[in-house]
Amino acid sequence: MTSPPPAPPTPPASSTPPNQLNSPTPSASSHDAADVKFGRSKKLGDKNDLRIKAIENGTVIDHINPGQALNVLKILGVGENITSTVSVVMNAGGVRGEKDVVKIEGRELTQKEVASISLISSKATVNIIRNFEVVEKKNVQIPDSVCGVVKCINPNCITNSSEPLESRFTVTEREGVVKSLTLRCIYCESIISDDIIKHMI
Ligand code: ZN
Repeated sequence: MTSPPPAPPTPPASSTPPNQLNSPTPSASSHDAADVKFGRSKKLGDKNDLRIKAIENGTVIDHINPGQALNVLKILGVGENITSTVSVVMNAGGVRGEKDVVKIEGRELTQKEVASISLISSKATVNIIRNFEVVEKKNVQIPDSVCGVVKCINPNCITNSSEPLESRFTVTEREGVVKSLTLRCIYCESIISDDIIKHMI
């Protein structure tokens, strides 16, 4: 059996090397630089306090469209009541240009959460971290339909009635300068195509 010649080690353009993905966030160093610049006194150990640590177990959502990190937090229900460590990096440089990154400790995402993220950031990747290592990395995929993710805009829709059915939308991609999505309610055919995040449940 002949084995093919070894492929040159070119990583896929879309990937961040796993060893960098969960490394401490480099923005911490700019804090240090600022501290030096403005001549603030620094106690020993401040540097480590400022540095955003790699997470031990949890999820790194990478390649989020620039500016969408806060919407990802909204989808994940990250708010005042959260107790796990969450790091957000906005407009980080990556191989694909600027991107946002969200790291959440002690949490793996549900299918519904991944589907919701795909609707606002179709190039995002979801990386499961266990014991500081990336054990699984997958691209989000825009589903053909979403259930219970988006609220129908039609107040008379059966999904908004007093005994509502779970909302269900078919998802189609529209070609254009920027790819965008159209959601169509399977019950009343209402269409949602702009600001999908505003209609998420
Ligand atoms: Zn509807």
